[in-house]
Amino acid sequence: MLGQEGEGFKIAMFALDQGRYTVAAGATGLIRACLDYSVKYANERKTFGEVIGKHQLVKEMITEMVVGYECSRLLWLKAGWCKNKGLRSTRETSLAKMYACDASERAASHAVQIYGAYGYSNEYPVERFYRNAKGAVIYEGSREIHKIMQADYALGYRVDKPTRCTLPTPEE
Ligand SMILES: Cc1cc2nc3c(=O)[nH]c(=O)nc-3n(C[C@H](O)[C@H](O)[C@H](O)COP(=O)(O)OP(=O)(O)OC[C@H]3O[C@@H](n4cnc5c(N)ncnc54)[C@H](O)[C@@H]3O)c2cc1C
Repeated sequence: MLGQEGEGFKIAMFALDQGRYTVAAGATGLIRACLDYSVKYANERKTFGEVIGKHQLVKEMITEMVVGYECSRLLWLKAGWCKNKGLRSTRETSLAKMYACDASERAASHAVQIYGAYGYSNEYPVERFYRNAKGAVIYEGSREIHKIMQADYALGYRVDKPTRCTLPTPEE
């Protein structure tokens, strides 16, 4: 038997901390893909005599992707650090999942916008990025559920107990 009698539900819920963590990391990778494809296209496509990367409003979309990527990455790295220390990370993982998925949806929308009509077609992968980003905003706890969790933590309505078993440290 894993754990103790009557603990099954809690253990099952604990598994969400692992699934959500991988979703956060995956969403961050999706932002990176949006950024890489957008930078490449923005440096190729010309309108009004210059590459579209030179237009300020295109730069704004690129910047949002950069910020989304960096912040998302730091959030799941923080959650991973907690996991490696054997610390409860439900709050950190939920925040990383929520933020990274929201940022990836925004990044994918921007990528489609930067590609213009090509972004809407399936000739380029950015339309697929957009669809994939949307799925992760819904599964592993929808954005709304994570928002409620985060507010409840901040308001003191939700408090997690520490993990019962100490994990071995990486050195052991
Ligand atoms: C691409 C994809 C892959 C999936 N893969 C899996 C999988 O592998 N395994 C699995 O078990 N499930 C999977 N799901 C299902 C997913 O977990 C559910 O779709 C998700 O939990 C939302 O449930 P629902 O679709 O019934 O929406 P509902 O629960 O009907 O929610 C509809 C809307 O209402 C909002 N809402 C619901 N309750 C509240 C509330 N209390 N407060 C505020 N807003 C609320 C939701 O955020 C959502 O926006 C997948 C979904 C997608 C899109």
